[in-house]
Amino acid sequence: MKPNIKELSRNELEGWLSQRREPPYRAGQIQRWLFQKGATSFAEMTNLSVRLRDELQEGFSISRLQVLRDSSSRDGTRKFLFGLADALSIESVLIPESKRVTLCVSTQAGCGFGCAFCATALMGLKRSLRASEILDQILAAGRLVADQRITHLVLMGMGEPLANYSQTLKALEIVTDASAGMGISPRRVTLSTVGLVPQIKKLMEESRVNLAVSLHATTDELRSQLMPVNRKYPLGELIKCCRSLPIPKRRRITFEYVLLRGVNHSAEDARRLSRLLSGIRCKINLIPFNPHPGNPYHRPTQDEIQQFQSALRSRGHQVNVREPRGDDIQAACGQLNSEYKVQSSRFNVQVRTSNVGVGG
Ligand code: SAH
Repeated sequence: MKPNIKELSRNELEGWLSQRREPPYRAGQIQRWLFQKGATSFAEMTNLSVRLRDELQEGFSISRLQVLRDSSSRDGTRKFLFGLADALSIESVLIPESKRVTLCVSTQAGCGFGCAFCATALMGLKRSLRASEILDQILAAGRLVADQRITHLVLMGMGEPLANYSQTLKALEIVTDASAGMGISPRRVTLSTVGLVPQIKKLMEESRVNLAVSLHATTDELRSQLMPVNRKYPLGELIKCCRSLPIPKRRRITFEYVLLRGVNHSAEDARRLSRLLSGIRCKINLIPFNPHPGNPYHRPTQDEIQQFQSALRSRGHQVNVREPRGDDIQAACGQLNSEYKVQSSRFNVQVRTSNVGVGG
């Protein structure tokens, strides 16, 4: 198997070129073909000599994800199931809004963190993705929605990005490189984590993307139940880390908080959450639980959601409620699981039928 050219850093590419007496700027030309124009063959790279194109062709392959399924939600959200070279599969979700088009990408096939409310957890961790596999989701989605330009990126698909630190960072460098990469500003990129303290610190030193932290509970007892990672990095340590991060002016940390009916949205939870986050420049993103087959939790009622939101707002916090997007195609937060195909398609049919009945 020839090495995948998308895995080479700019330096490595320049090194390879210099051995062939080619100037270093060719590396930028090649990367622009790959990451800006989405080239799938060296033959397309017409500003390179035919000889160089032939040598590239001999030395390297150009990776491409297989599109296994492309589902569209009633709300315009699209979910892509992509096949990897080793027959594993991952999902990416495209979320068009009025002024932005956000792509949610996976960083691992499956996930090993076992959060109690998450569908991806049921798969377990298959493996971490290569940088090129993260980038290829963006390139493949871009091809599938040629009329829409992807403006924002969130690393909130399958997997824990900070458990795949080096490949994720390598991908982010190309995503945010305006000269030869995809040119998406780091301000428009958000990485979400279960709360791996050492990697959060490292990330804030090495990258300028936005940070989102999945909090979901206000006591160690509950958080450890919902998110086993809390036993390793308990709330106190996580919050202390967040408090000490060098957050640039006009930026905020996002704290994600999944709302599980009767579990974590009492008045006492609002008080504790407010106390935990006091003094941290942050916003709170409430995510009403998105159901998936076989999970015992429920979404609180609209009233309960609003009550919790107001309790936090009245304490001076910036609080948004994340609208479920693409939940009819199991594309919403925490519904990604590329394995329960049979189950979930049966589930979808039921949901659709009942919605037709109710909504007309
Ligand atoms: N591993 C990272 C990236 C996943 S991001 C992380 O945990 O942050 C997806 C977000 O959706 C996380 O905040 C996750 O906790 C949340 N989530 C998972 N399952 C969910 C569900 N069923 N309903 C709503 N949100 C969920």
